[in-house]
Amino acid sequence: MKKDQYLSGFRVTRKQKISELKAILYELQHEKSGAQLVWLDRAEQNKTFCVSFKTIPENDSGVFHIMEHSVLNGSKKYTVKEPFAELLKSSVNTFLNAMTFNDKTMYPVASRNESDFFNLVDVYLDAVFQPKVLEDPNIFYQEGWHYSFDENGEPSYQGVVFNEMKGAASTLNRKAHTELDKLLFPESCYRFDSGGDPDYITDLTYDDFKKAHSKYYHPSNAYFFLDGDLPLEQLLEKLDREYLSHYMRKDHNFDLPFQKPRSGEATHYYEIGEDEDLQNKCRLSLAGIICSWEEIEKQYAVKILCDALAGTNESPLKKIILDKGLAQDFEMYLSDGIAQPWIGLEAQNTSEEKFDEIKETIFSTLTDIADRGINKADLLASLNQLYFQELDPDEPRGVILAITAMHSWLYGGDPELYFSPAQQFEALREKIDSSYYEDLLREVLLENNNLVELQSLPSQTYGTEREAREAEKLAYEKSLWSENEKKSLIDAQQELQVWQQSADSKEDLATVPSLTLDDLAEEPEYLQTTVAEMDGMTVLSHPAPIKGLVYLKLYFDISDAAFEDLAQLNFMTELMGNLGTSKRDAEELQREVKTHIGNLNFSLLPVPDYEDSGRCKIFYVVTCSVLENETQGAIDLIAEIVRETVFDDAYRANAYLLQIREILRQASNSSAHAFGIMRVKGHYSAAAAAIEASSGFSFILWLKEFIADFNAKWGQFIAWAKRFQQQMFGGERLTVSVSGYSVAEASKMIAATFPAGAARHKEYAEYSVSYPKQEATIIPAAVSYACMACDTRPANGNFSGEWLVVNRILTLEYLWNKIRVQGGAYGCGFSIDKSAKCVFYSYRDPQPWNSLDSYRKSAAFLKEFAEKESNFDRFIIGAVSGLDPQLSHKKQVDIADLWYFTGTTAEKTLLVRRELMATNTGDLLRLSRILETSIRENAVCVVGPAAVIKTEELSLIDIW
Ligand SMILES: [Zn+2]
Repeated sequence: MKKDQYLSGFRVTRKQKISELKAILYELQHEKSGAQLVWLDRAEQNKTFCVSFKTIPENDSGVFHIMEHSVLNGSKKYTVKEPFAELLKSSVNTFLNAMTFNDKTMYPVASRNESDFFNLVDVYLDAVFQPKVLEDPNIFYQEGWHYSFDENGEPSYQGVVFNEMKGAASTLNRKAHTELDKLLFPESCYRFDSGGDPDYITDLTYDDFKKAHSKYYHPSNAYFFLDGDLPLEQLLEKLDREYLSHYMRKDHNFDLPFQKPRSGEATHYYEIGEDEDLQNKCRLSLAGIICSWEEIEKQYAVKILCDALAGTNESPLKKIILDKGLAQDFEMYLSDGIAQPWIGLEAQNTSEEKFDEIKETIFSTLTDIADRGINKADLLASLNQLYFQELDPDEPRGVILAITAMHSWLYGGDPELYFSPAQQFEALREKIDSSYYEDLLREVLLENNNLVELQSLPSQTYGTEREAREAEKLAYEKSLWSENEKKSLIDAQQELQVWQQSADSKEDLATVPSLTLDDLAEEPEYLQTTVAEMDGMTVLSHPAPIKGLVYLKLYFDISDAAFEDLAQLNFMTELMGNLGTSKRDAEELQREVKTHIGNLNFSLLPVPDYEDSGRCKIFYVVTCSVLENETQGAIDLIAEIVRETVFDDAYRANAYLLQIREILRQASNSSAHAFGIMRVKGHYSAAAAAIEASSGFSFILWLKEFIADFNAKWGQFIAWAKRFQQQMFGGERLTVSVSGYSVAEASKMIAATFPAGAARHKEYAEYSVSYPKQEATIIPAAVSYACMACDTRPANGNFSGEWLVVNRILTLEYLWNKIRVQGGAYGCGFSIDKSAKCVFYSYRDPQPWNSLDSYRKSAAFLKEFAEKESNFDRFIIGAVSGLDPQLSHKKQVDIADLWYFTGTTAEKTLLVRRELMATNTGDLLRLSRILETSIRENAVCVVGPAAVIKTEELSLIDIW
């Protein structure tokens, strides 16, 4: 393809090599409609397509978020109720989702299979340009909001986005960010909550919704992004013929208004539990716009600056804040990916009376640092770390590149601006020797008169006030309705319910394109593992895709660890690398790690025994990514950290305890289902019990006790940690995994650093939990999370490929309809693991008790479904895609290693795939009987607001 070439209505306007991506970038323009297109032509089998629109919010109604949901609910060509859900069932996509940002909406899909890719592209194109929601308001009511009337005729608000955002609004991190945006951008669209503020979502009318669609979802405002090895001409031809050629170029002015930086102040409240302690729950944020999107070097420089000054507890600014007891945590960051990136500083978990001293300390410390000069070794360490992240790509790569392109393209810039960071990092490396970073610090903070200040304060009554506000709004609206109006609203709700409960016809379903099982005949290849006994250790090795980049994993078998010790063991992994060693203090250690190692991480890994649920193995895992020439140094540092960390530092340890508690407090609110799932699964296998004990509610309870009685507990912890350190890190416990380095050499280096001792250890850990089976936890939130688990083994259940079809049917056919479509919850799911344990969960759910009831009836649904349907191919195809996700090399290594430890092989995995592909009615009926028996004995955990939790039926876990 050449520049100026004309293809299916498109003109090629640019062709350029991008060596860092090993790609050629083509830019094209569709002449009639004005649509723009970029293709990154690279040798990548996973093909990505993304269409984006600039969408500029004009209020907090969340119109573009509701639109993002709604357009995927049927279109002119694809007449089923939810093509998106159908594709989830029946496509082998590696990515299928849509995202609303505060100035754009993106619709990316990806697949390795070419026909599947074309199917996905077509469904998405039809969805965005010809969505059914423009004719059928029921879709808007379901996804956005509607009145729901109870048996007494009392109205309430319901809707998927409405409940999703109620959940999102409960988290302080998100709330503080939205409030900062309001302060920073009083005249730009960034002041609005593009996701939707629940208080305002219910102001949005269907008419305004339709108007917004016709204004923004037009080819002249469309950005098409393609990545990978794909037949471009065929795709352009389709785009032109079926969509773009029907549109005339439209002049629009969607330029974002430039926000002149200005100062400002605000206070806002966020929700905590009604009897939760108010102490240390305030947050002080300072922020300021620093530049425009095209100043890319400056943005990297600010990131380096933030990391060097406040990246760890030892970084100079953060250290002073913590040492003075001004806050329990402190962050400094760049908020980018928008037209005007801004810098933020946050003192977390503090109190109102300390705000002045915090500000004074920030400015006096930074002035002092700018005058004396920033430690150059710190700058280099932060730069190396940041650059390493750029070298070590994540998946889904094509989607990440699509988003990255928009960081400049959306604002009229060059889509490749952010694709080649090497030269910026080179320039920034040289500038370490000048006064560049000090000058930058003065410019963005010290001499910046346009900083804003936000105070976040906790409120025990916020939840009740929010409910009251909602009730008052409803009462007011109700008072305005005539009898006839009320009747028509009730009719509308009934019509919505009838529509929701109606099934798609066979003809409608046939419109959704799907692969056939024959398309999947070719079996996948998996990352290879070579196992060798070398230097007294087991060494696993894997081929590496990127030259010069080494992945090392050290697995210490600690299966003799006591169950009661797992929580503190997890805390110990958090301390490693953060406390000093016998050779150097914490500050120097962290600088050393950042300078020489790309990524270093310590964690616990419970490995299940799929045949015997009562036992598992436990590994202490060190994970490290490093450049080839730094490998020996990395091994030495790892040995120093695991063997010689000095745990005597009560002060530092306490700081981490408080920080971890706060992270968990936020997580147990925003991702409560993850904790609920761990809790209920914990009953059914030793490995799941270990996961719950080390990182679930049990870990939170352990932290709570530890913090309450720190002085007494700390002494015991140190004595235990020292013993553990001496016993557990010998070569005799070690299995090593290597990728990207000579196996023989790595093995020799590691064996020399970790000589084998004489200690013998237990082969398996035998763990079980002792908490009740029916539980609940209260969190300060407006929505709930309902989890239930059961074991199929007592009913002779075994994991096999057919269960993966059941996963799909229950999640996407049954729970999706019951809990999301009809129940208004944002998410839900069912899964079974290789130990044959099942789990059900719901996410941001207004009706958790109904959800539990639906779980109990799932076997009956499965039976009925199996009897009624004759062809499960769609579900089978979707399940196959779940078996082979697009993974980064790192993740592939993790899985390959886990296969080794669990005795899984490529043959066994392919057997599961074959079982899955041959699933028939008889299989599903057999599994429905097993599920029916199994689910009678279950474990339940409901997480939600106090008003929803019925404590007389469930035992309460008092996590805070
Ligand atoms: Zn959403």
